[in-house]
Amino acid sequence: MLMEINIITAALLAILGLAMGSFAGATVWRLRVRQLAEDKSRGDRSSTKDYKKLSYLLKPISKDRSHCLECQHELKWYDLLPLVSWLSLGGKCRYCQKPIGRTEPLVELGVAAFFVLSYVLWPVALQAPIDIAQFVIWLTAGVLLTILFIYDLKWFLLPDSITFSVVGLGAILSLLRLTQSGDITASLWSLVGSVVILSGLYFVIYIGSKGKMIGFGDIKLGLGLALLLGDWALAFLALFLANFIGCLIVLPAMLRGKLSRKSHIPFGPLLIAGFAITGLVGHQLIAQYMNLLF
Ligand SMILES: [Zn+2]
Repeated sequence: MLMEINIITAALLAILGLAMGSFAGATVWRLRVRQLAEDKSRGDRSSTKDYKKLSYLLKPISKDRSHCLECQHELKWYDLLPLVSWLSLGGKCRYCQKPIGRTEPLVELGVAAFFVLSYVLWPVALQAPIDIAQFVIWLTAGVLLTILFIYDLKWFLLPDSITFSVVGLGAILSLLRLTQSGDITASLWSLVGSVVILSGLYFVIYIGSKGKMIGFGDIKLGLGLALLLGDWALAFLALFLANFIGCLIVLPAMLRGKLSRKSHIPFGPLLIAGFAITGLVGHQLIAQYMNLLF
């Protein structure tokens, strides 16, 4: 099943993944300050302090250079090398010595791992342009989903600009897959099933709980993930894994009394984690499960 793996391609994808992870981490903060500016213009005072701290990020992108979030010192190129800078500085800002979050290097490593694993586990040879196009769309969606993952984890919100981009990429990927399908009717039904499972179910919960249990953002994210997977069985597995991971995290915390029934749990990161595992090894997991049954 596995195609020949080119070490140089894998290494290049690892470096590209580190850079894209760094980009994703920076984009999260840019999106955040835009959101805070919107909240402020709508008269929401609660976020004014955060906004002041981050407002320098509102400068036009061309003039924007990354700054230390603590001391606002402009960071030089050698402070911005993904992972390398963080490791060489021991996780502290070169100028104010305050710790830089562990999130950034973890995100960079995560995206690099996603890029390399996607390449190693990709089910078809990456030679025809249409196959390479699908691979590139997949990696791009991975970067956008990384942004959503962090954003939702930090602020319980899925920014529309990114969610809609994921839906767009999913739609293009679905179309490309359909052009290659030997049985378009079956593929279309599988795609519809995928959307119903990952997006429709959340829609029902959303309506049923009047938006209290999950947000509308989860439905849009579910739609994007469903289109990216394009297969009802994979969609089902992704949803199952998301809930399974959720239980693994939530139950121990509940037992230790750290969470109550009222605690807000962001569904986005769980869905994205379930999706990533499914996208990478979903077919293998389903095959093994079938072997166990029959
Ligand atoms: Zn600093």
